[in-house]
Amino acid sequence: MQVEIITIGNEVLSGRTLDTNFAFLARALEEVSVPVVWHTTVGDVGERIGEALRRALTRADGVVMTGGLGPTPDDITRKAVAAALGRRLQLDDDVLARIRDRAKRSGRKLPASVESQALLPRGATAWPNPLGTAPGLLITQDEKPVILLPGVPQEMEALAVEFVIPYFRERSGLAVESFTLRTAGAFESQLHERIGKLPQRWPGAALAYLPSYFGVDLRVTVAGADPAPVHEVAMRAHEQLEARVRPVIYAEGARTMEEVVGDLLVARGWRIAVAESCTGGLMARRLTDIDGSSRYFERGYVTYSNASKVALLGVRPVDLDGHGAVSAPVAEQMARGAREQAGVEVGAGITGVAGPTGGSDEKPVGTVFIAVAAPDGAAVRTYRFMGTRRAIRERAAQTALDLVRRTLQGLPLDPALDG
Ligand code: AMP
Ligand code: MG
Repeated sequence: MQVEIITIGNEVLSGRTLDTNFAFLARALEEVSVPVVWHTTVGDVGERIGEALRRALTRADGVVMTGGLGPTPDDITRKAVAAALGRRLQLDDDVLARIRDRAKRSGRKLPASVESQALLPRGATAWPNPLGTAPGLLITQDEKPVILLPGVPQEMEALAVEFVIPYFRERSGLAVESFTLRTAGAFESQLHERIGKLPQRWPGAALAYLPSYFGVDLRVTVAGADPAPVHEVAMRAHEQLEARVRPVIYAEGARTMEEVVGDLLVARGWRIAVAESCTGGLMARRLTDIDGSSRYFERGYVTYSNASKVALLGVRPVDLDGHGAVSAPVAEQMARGAREQAGVEVGAGITGVAGPTGGSDEKPVGTVFIAVAAPDGAAVRTYRFMGTRRAIRERAAQTALDLVRRTLQGLPLDPALDG
């Protein structure tokens, strides 16, 4: 069963709104092994929407459309789809009742135009929208599903998770299992060298390398007719893949590095303070993104100037002069200083050249020193990150969190894939 996704809206076509709806739907469909083979974007123009739908029905087995289901005059998807499929628009009493009930509960007087959202192409099934008034719609045309979803991403995602994905999973008739191993500290090419053709030993499985600032996620999806062999292959794939790349795995599934670090700190009953220069508070922000982080996050210092490094962290002026603010001794003193000033078990220090200016031959853009101080001493490492200012800062924060994780887990600080 092959699917075409059509995203509708002038704002998407103009590039002003990033088409995250497409990205979300395509990924979700991939998870249930339903291939997306076409993606079309059209503006809010009736004939073009109709044309896009008719063409999609000639080449795909199902169509998912998002956008243009709102009550304003530029939202014309329902009308255009009804015309393209030769169906009339009819008032749906259940949908109308839900819209009125929602208006009543919100305590606001909604404009009458909202009720136009209860006009559905004849024969459509409505999926109730938990977050808004426009329901998702399922129309079956020549035995092919045509699904209409609102453009607002949260509403679209809620409907996709609750109705669209289960619908396709059931129709595809495939059993699907997947898992993700999250790695940090190794390049995609290094992982590929370690993993090689291993996936060929897993029938029905596909391995995706998903690189980001945070590292490379390894995602395996296994699909097949029967659940038992699919499960068996998934288990085997998990075991074999993990054995190959164990030294660089930091989490599974959607768990983030800051969650892992937070759990490790809680388990030890330890607390952390961080001193940041080139990351400007990014490490502190990520640690405090976690609900409950007050149990272990004591404080963060954003010490951008030399004077603040001296005054707040006790960094020695002689080392700032002799080695420069971007140097191993300063990173180490920042980590030790944060730990001691805050009176906690763990301190981290980050100093580097985020660029794009400010690099030198000795310390080119991307040079970052990261230190971790713990009860039994401090360690510092030098990195050379690539990319934009944003990329360098994100990578530095991720690597600093990874160093803390390795320290807490008693692992070697330098990820080494081979051996
Ligand atoms: P609509 O349902 O067309 O009125 O869309 C409502 C809002 O959802 C738009 O103003 C956009 O901000 C957002 N939106 C619409 N389509 C997309 C899309 N494909 N990806 C991300 N956001 C979208
Ligand atoms: Mg729109």
